[in-house]
This record gives sequence, structure tokens and C-alpha cells, in this order.
Amino acid sequence: MKTAQWFRFPFVLLLIVCWASACAPVRAEAPQPARTAEVKRPRNLILFIGDGMGPQQIGLFELWAREAASSKYADRITNYRALANRGWMGLSLHSPAGALVVDSACSATQLATGQPAPPEVLGLNTRGDRVVTVLEAARAAGKATGLVSDTRITHATPGAFVAHVPHRSMETVIAEQVVASGADVLLSGGAQFFAPKGADRSWSGGAYDPGSKRSDGRDLAAEARAAGYTVAFDIAGLEGAGPRVLGLFSKSGMSDAFGDRRVRETGDTTGSREPTLAEMTHAALKRLEGDPDGFFLMVEAGQIDWAAHANDAGWMLAEMERMDSALAVISSWMAGREDTVLAVTADHETGGFGLSYHTLEVPAAVELPGNGMMGQPFHPGYNFGRSTTLDQIWAQKRSIGSAIDGLPTAKPERTAALAERLSSITGVNFSAAEAARALSVEGGDSERVGATKGPLFDPADIDQLWQAYRPSERDRVSAMASRALDDRRGVVWATGTHTHTPVPLVVVGPTDFAAGLGHLTHHVLVGQALFAWLGLPAPLQP
Ligand code: MG
Ligand code: ZN
Repeated sequence: MKTAQWFRFPFVLLLIVCWASACAPVRAEAPQPARTAEVKRPRNLILFIGDGMGPQQIGLFELWAREAASSKYADRITNYRALANRGWMGLSLHSPAGALVVDSACSATQLATGQPAPPEVLGLNTRGDRVVTVLEAARAAGKATGLVSDTRITHATPGAFVAHVPHRSMETVIAEQVVASGADVLLSGGAQFFAPKGADRSWSGGAYDPGSKRSDGRDLAAEARAAGYTVAFDIAGLEGAGPRVLGLFSKSGMSDAFGDRRVRETGDTTGSREPTLAEMTHAALKRLEGDPDGFFLMVEAGQIDWAAHANDAGWMLAEMERMDSALAVISSWMAGREDTVLAVTADHETGGFGLSYHTLEVPAAVELPGNGMMGQPFHPGYNFGRSTTLDQIWAQKRSIGSAIDGLPTAKPERTAALAERLSSITGVNFSAAEAARALSVEGGDSERVGATKGPLFDPADIDQLWQAYRPSERDRVSAMASRALDDRRGVVWATGTHTHTPVPLVVVGPTDFAAGLGHLTHHVLVGQALFAWLGLPAPLQP
């Protein structure tokens, strides 16, 4: 926004040199916007990332909206579907440089920079060099910029747009780079990386205990205020904030979609609560829309991925609905505008999720009145699933993982309490044996299965191999508990990590700029298109 700040960043200088010397970037498949006089280049770009939102997750959400009695969409049309129908839809691969399966840091880096990146880095290329992101380039061009996420601002997806670090886990450093980025609107969780060591509740104005993970006395909230930001810790703070705002609404990750939905459906006028994803999206648009040069905004629905890592279909569907509530805000803000491109995609698919037909409870034969039945009953050989399963998935009240928190430690009580909680959360009766089986996969985090050729790894042990694809203990217990439920209802999961599955890419906006990605593409090329749409200097090549 301020030209004086251009030269605070050496890489921006590099970018200008590169631009001026007309170095020719490799842009084999990136769309080339038409340069006719009547085409007005879009001023604004909104990139919406559903973390872990592959075609399977979209399929579950759309099937529920379309087929289930519990669908909240009276016309059965989700905001996602309406946007897809208005724009173009393509598929995008997202493989990292030198590997097959991507993580969120690498994937978001490839989107943010238009360059190949190795796994788990933020804002670096394959050589390990810092690379200009689309947010940084947009800011250098005078545009307002913003990041919104329902995880935490230092997490991989938002981090990739403002940070340059060799590993995504360096969240205290990422927090410093978030503040130094100068982005106008930064809304998420993650206060523990911003609060000075030993800070108490008063640091957040009483909103929550930040539980600092810093080992130094730096107070990044104070530094942000000195740089002209309002720092907000709850919805009241956000509503009263100025044009430049750093919102840190929770100690670590923000609330899951069940909490968000309760606020949206019941209305909660308490000023001290967290804002919903829809509210953060609205607040960001209202602050960015006034910039005469336009803006770049990235919004992340980040917990679809977390639910899928836990193999928790009920939580995942809730997160998809939260995702759509934020799209509703963007969609109505964009109505009638011709100056904005919206790209909706995912960084990857998580879980290898599916609804699958099986041989359990195959429906009995029925007579059909039609004239093509040749005297035969209608009798498919398998159970192809029922819409009531979608209602059951939607009816889940909390995440499966939340049932594990604060369980008694003594074994029989622990098992009984888990069975009771799972039954209450899901509305399906869990037996003590099923709860015991879920708890049988506790432990083992200290040595990852097979990571070393240590005594844990026995390739003949199927359960151990299953665990190798579920490296977090909490996700593992959740996945095993979910399995007891899912095996009975035609829900399957291939993994507790990510898959290579190409993800849908929806692009809505002025025709000449939005078209051209209704193809089979790759996130590196999508990243290059983001620069091209905004007329920003092409990204630097490695
Ligand atoms: Mg993410
Ligand atoms: Zn993930």
C-alpha cells in the first residue's frame, strides 16, 4: 500500500530488477490473458484453499446437500456448486519437486510462488532460495493484502504466503515473519508464537491464556501495534479494529466446525468469543475492498484436513459446511463485480476417503412395475448405500478425537467412558470392545513405525503397517474408533495422511482472466497464473 515500504525487502528489489531486465520466465502452460483494449484486468484476487478438500470431500458434501433429509440447502445447491457452475472447473496436480505426495507447506508454497518446491518448506524453491510470493508481489505493486485461516496464522497454508523458512515447524520464526510481512489483514489463531515467554491472560486482554511457546521476551503483538496494527483477540476486538489488523483468536488452532456452527446457528452475542470463518472472511473483505489498487486475499478452510487425518467423517462434513459458509460471504460480496477473480482449490486430498459399496445388509429383492423387468425382481447384488448414512454423518455433535480428552486413566473406566462418549457424540451405539480396540493403538509416537529399522517395525504385522499411515497418536485412536462406525455404514479411508489425488480448481471472474484453467494443470502453473491475473511481474525462476 505504501510505496516507501517497497525497499524494505531485498527480494522485492530483485523482482524489480528481473522485471526491468525482461528476463523470460518459463510459463509453458500458464494462461495468457488477452490484451485487448476492452478487457479490464481484475484488481482483486481471492484465493480460497480448502485444506485436504479433494474430490472425495466435495463429493460427500455435495451428496449430503443434494440427497440427505438433513440437508440445510432448501434448493439443494451449495455455494461451492453455484460458484463452480458460474465459473470454470479444472483439475490440478500438486506433487512436490522430487516426490509424489505433497504436504500443505510445499503445496501452498507452489501456489504462492509459481515455482516447484520440496516437501515441508515455506517460501523456498528447490535450491533453498527465498522466492517472492504472490502476496509480497501484490503488496509491492501497491495492493492491500490479507490472510484468513481457521487454523493458526503460523500454520503451513497461511505461512507459505509470507514466510521463508526451511521447515514448517519453525512457527516462532514464522510468527516474526508474519508481523514483518506488512500484510494488512491477518486473522487466525496461533497466539502462543506471538506472546513473550511467561505471558499470562492479561496479554490477550483477558480473552485466553496464550501459553507462550517463545523462549525469548519478544512480544510480537506489541511489535505489530508499533507497526500500525490493531491486535484483536476476540470478535469484539475484530469488529472494533482499524484497517490494519492482526487477529489472534486462540492460543493454538481455532475452534473446529462444530463450535463455528453453534455460533452461526444459535447466534452468540458474547463479544469474547472467537469469530467464525465466515465472520473473518467478511471482516477481511471489508478492510481490503477500499484500496484503490485492489487486493490479494487468501482464505483457508484449514480443518477439513485435520478431520480427514483423524478419519472422522462427521467432523469432515461439518468442516465442509463451514468452508461453504465462507464461500457464501465471498459469493455475495462478488455479486455484480467484474473486477475480481476468485480461485477455489485445495492443497491436496487427505485420507483417501470414500463411500463404498459392500456385502453387508444387502437390500432384499423388490418388485418393480416397469415394463423392462422381464419378470425379474429388482435385486442388486450389493449394498450401494443409503441417504440415511449421510444424515447419520451430519448428526455427529463433536469430533471423535474430542472424546479422548480427559478420559480416566484406569483401564476398565477408560474403556467404558470412551464407549459412552462415542455413543453420545455419534448417536450410534459403541460397544466396550470397540472402544478397547480404539485405545489399543495408543502409544508409539516416540518412535515412528518403520522410520528406523528398530524393533517396532515388523512388516508382517498388518496393524503396524496401518499405523505407519497414521503417525499421530490422537488421529490413530480417532481413526480406529471411526472404523468401528464406518465399517458398518460404507465409509472407507485409505490412509491417515495425504494422497496424490488431483484436486478440483474452480475459477470465477472476468472471462478472459478466469478461463484457461479449466484444464488438467499443476499447482506450480496455478501459482504462475495468480501472478498473471493480477498483472504482477512473473515469479522468479530458480
Ligand atoms: Mg492448512
Ligand atoms: Zn494434512
